[in-house]
Amino acid sequence: MRTPTGLKQLHEEAEHFSAKRAQTRVVIPGTDAYDIDVTIDEHAIDQLLDVRPADVDVTTEFSFARNIFIPLTTACRYTCTYCTYYDPPGQAEVMSPEEVRDVCARGADAGCTEALFTFGDDPDERYTSIYDQLDGWGHDSVHTYLREVCEIALDEGLLPHANPGDQTREQMELVANVNASMGVMLETTADVQAHSGPQAKSPGQRLNTLQIAGELGVPFTTGVLVGIGEDWTDRAESVLAIRELHERYGHIQEFIVQPVVENERWQSGTPDLDSLRRVTAMVRAGLPPEISVQVPPNLAPTEDLIDCGINDLGGVSPVTEDHINPEYSWPALQELEELADCAGVPLRERLPVYERFVDENTESGKWISRSIRDAIAADDIHGERFRSVLETGKNPVEM
Ligand code: SF4
Repeated sequence: MRTPTGLKQLHEEAEHFSAKRAQTRVVIPGTDAYDIDVTIDEHAIDQLLDVRPADVDVTTEFSFARNIFIPLTTACRYTCTYCTYYDPPGQAEVMSPEEVRDVCARGADAGCTEALFTFGDDPDERYTSIYDQLDGWGHDSVHTYLREVCEIALDEGLLPHANPGDQTREQMELVANVNASMGVMLETTADVQAHSGPQAKSPGQRLNTLQIAGELGVPFTTGVLVGIGEDWTDRAESVLAIRELHERYGHIQEFIVQPVVENERWQSGTPDLDSLRRVTAMVRAGLPPEISVQVPPNLAPTEDLIDCGINDLGGVSPVTEDHINPEYSWPALQELEELADCAGVPLRERLPVYERFVDENTESGKWISRSIRDAIAADDIHGERFRSVLETGKNPVEM
């Protein structure tokens, strides 16, 4: 295992290459269509390609969040070939305000802190029934509706974390102040066949969303989807692109390493353990320490990745299932405790927004909005629970 000194050296070398901006730069596909400048130094890519699990340190603690999963709509303009989340026009649904309120109330009663809103990407005009439904509730877009349901979640005592896919600046501005944090998976900087279709997902557009989040000061979660046709250089580029945006804005709180898994739409395999171990170590070594590295325990062999630099175990829910990957059940809290025991480290609960964005004594602590700050400061059981998680990492409400 590389010592802390060795890891520090690796970071210093990476920073050196980043600062030096050597002449050979890799341009990410699709970025020229947006006003963004994310180019990667080839030397930094080579450095990252050399990283192995022995080069990173084991964490000193694991964190996790108690959440509820709210699949607000299964409509999506894209048709990624590995995805079972989206439903085609005519079959897609959108949850009603009453359904959202009900699941939020049950989640808050069960001691959760996070309302995790999931979507496809902005549904296009083929989804007429979705827009008819939204119109009936007084909305002309998914984003104005998202704002309403985030307010419902706050009202019920949960902190919203929405993942609405690619967002324009106007869309994100509309919902940023009712979310504790938001996210979108970069997945990969490569143009891959798995994203093909009538409307293909673009790495440039994903990076544009990540840049907008930085410009607006939104604590953000992102990550890579491993095994969808990208190669090792693409994986290193993806990590370095995120690092470059984080160095510019400081807004990335969490990076998810997610293996693609087999399902009814994807039978092209899942990454083998050695590949998953190597890419996880690359992510840890390539990112600054303030960004948590997470693998979803319901999708990855977490116990075999403990020595690869992971320090977050994601969300655990006593109320809802993982609607993105319904065939893969959520691990119970007890399983997370067993993983922490296996690693010999404590398990600490966290909020959907990381502490450094809440602490008003730090520069980034001024980022969260008044409505989120008020929720945390509230003089009721919900505010007490949020503060308890922040202060002690323990939740007084038993699951
Ligand atoms: S992965 Fe996301 S963007 Fe792709 S089809 Fe599924 S929901 Fe849509």
